[in-house]
Amino acid sequence: MSTHKILINGEWVESSSGKTFDSLNPATEKPLGIFQKGNREDVKSATDSAEDAFEKWSNYPAPKRGEILFKAYQLLKENKQRLGELVTKEMGKVLPEGLGDVQEAIDITAYMAAEGRRLFGHTTPSELPDKFCMTVRRPVGVVGLISPWNFPVAIPSWKILPALICGNTVVFKPASDTPLCAIEFVKIFEQAGLPDGVVNLVTGSGSDVGDEIVTNSKIRMVSFTGSREVGLEITKKAGLKKVGLELGGKNGIIIMDDADLELALDGVIWGGFGTTGQRCTAASRVIVHEKVKEKFLEMFVERTEKLNLGDGLNKGTDIGPLINDEAREKVEKYTQIGIDEGAKLLHGGRKIGGKGFFYQPTIFDDVTPGMRIAQEEIFGPTVSVIEVKNLSEAIEVMNSVKYGLSSSIYTKDVNKAFKAVEKIEAGLTYVNASTIGSEVHLPFGGVKDTGNGTREGGIHGVEEFSEVKTVYIDYSGKLQKAQIDDK
Ligand code: NAP
Ligand code: MG
Repeated sequence: MSTHKILINGEWVESSSGKTFDSLNPATEKPLGIFQKGNREDVKSATDSAEDAFEKWSNYPAPKRGEILFKAYQLLKENKQRLGELVTKEMGKVLPEGLGDVQEAIDITAYMAAEGRRLFGHTTPSELPDKFCMTVRRPVGVVGLISPWNFPVAIPSWKILPALICGNTVVFKPASDTPLCAIEFVKIFEQAGLPDGVVNLVTGSGSDVGDEIVTNSKIRMVSFTGSREVGLEITKKAGLKKVGLELGGKNGIIIMDDADLELALDGVIWGGFGTTGQRCTAASRVIVHEKVKEKFLEMFVERTEKLNLGDGLNKGTDIGPLINDEAREKVEKYTQIGIDEGAKLLHGGRKIGGKGFFYQPTIFDDVTPGMRIAQEEIFGPTVSVIEVKNLSEAIEVMNSVKYGLSSSIYTKDVNKAFKAVEKIEAGLTYVNASTIGSEVHLPFGGVKDTGNGTREGGIHGVEEFSEVKTVYIDYSGKLQKAQIDDK
C-alpha cells in the first residue's frame, strides 16, 4: 500500500508529526493508502510557501492564469474515468455519481479558466466633472480551504478554481475520509503547470490542521464547507478574516394533490437515497398533501424495496455505503429516535451485516414537523413523511427548520409553484424536480443556519474569492470635493 505525502512549495513531503492515518473504502473496509497526519507546523510551512508564491501568481495576467486552468480542464477530462472510480472507492457513491462529482470539477474549471478574460469591474459616472470612477477585482491573498468528504473532488473544485483565477494562493485541507481524491485532484494542477507554492495541500485532523488554517493570521480568508457545528466554531475563531460557510440542510420536497406522482416519486428516491442521503441538499423530508399521501406512500415503499445496496463500482447498485461506521451509528441512532418519538417505521431501519458501512433505505410515516427526525440533519438514507392539508401548511412546515438550503415542489398549478418560489426560505427551490442538481454557473448556498450569506458557483465564486477596489481618477487638476462642491 502506498504512502502519500503533503504538498508544500511544490514538493511532496512527509509531515513533521511523523504520524500517519489510513483512508478506507467504505464498501469493503479495505485501506486505500497511508496519509500524513499533518500538524500546525505543516500548515505554517504551507502558509509561508503560499505567501511567497502570492506575489508572482497575483502578478501573472489573469488570462495566463486561465491558460493553466484550461490545461487542467483537458487533463481532468482525460482522467475523468480514473478519478470517478477513485471517488467511488474512497467515498462510496455509485460510479455514475462518482463520475458526476468529477464532471462538476471539469465544468467549473472550464468556467473559471474563461473567467480569466473577464473578471469584470464596473465603470460609472462621477458626480463631479473630469473625474473617472471604476471598480477592479483584487485577490484576497492566501486563502485557506476546508472541505468535507461527500463531494471529494467537486467541493474542492468549487473553491480552488475561483481562488486561483482571482490570483489567490491556497492552503487546502481535505476531509480525513477522502484524502486520496484530494491528492489526485491537486496533482492535475501540478501537471498543468501551476507554479510551486500556489496550491499547498495538508492532510490531517480538523482540530490541528483545520484549526491552524482558521487561526493563522497570514491566511486572509477561510472557505469552509461542512457541518453547522464546525461552521459556528470557525465563525468564533476566525476573527476579522473573510469567511465563507456552506453548511447543512434539512431539505424538503412538497407534493401537492395535483402532482404527477410518478415524477415526484423519481425525485424523492433520487433526493432521499441518492448518495445514500449524504448530500447537503438531500431530500430528508417529504411534505405530502393528505389527498395523495396513501397512494404516494404505497408507490414509495414499493420502489424502495427494489433498490439494490452494494459496492458502487458494481453495475446495478443503486445505493452505496455510508462514509464510515460512525456515520452509520448516527443514522441508527436517529432510527431509534424516530421510533421513540412515535413515528411509524414503514421501511428499512437496519444496518446490513458483513463488510462495508451499509444501511437500509429508511422511510418514516406519521412524522410531525417538530420531531427531531424532521428537524435535524441525519446525513443518511432516512426520509420523513409529513402530511399536510394545503399549500400554506406545506410551506410553513418547509420553513420550520433552522436550515435553508434546498427545497422542491411538485405541482401542475403555476400559481402554487410561484407561491412556493416566493415563500420558501431556502437558497434553492426546484419546481417539478428533486432537491439536488446544481449547475456550476449558478449560485449555490443557503439562508438561515445553512451559512453566512455567501454563495459559491459562477460569478458568485469570483466575488467570494476577490476583493473589490474602488478607483477614483481625478483629471481636473484641482481639488474637487464630493458632496460639497456646488451644493
Ligand atoms: P465536518 O465534520 O464539519 O467536516 C468538514 C471539514 O472540516 C473536514 O475537513 C474536517 O476535518 C474539518 N474540521 C473538523 N473540525 C474542524 C475544526 N474544529 N476546525 C476546522 N476544520 C475542522 O463535516 P463533514 O462530516 O465532513 O460533512 C458533512 C457536513 O457538511 C453536513 O453537515 C453537510 O450538510 C455539510 N455539507 C454542506 C455543503 C454545502 O455546500 N452547504 C456541501 C456538502 C456538505 P476532518 O475530516 O479531519 O475531521
Ligand atoms: Mg474513507
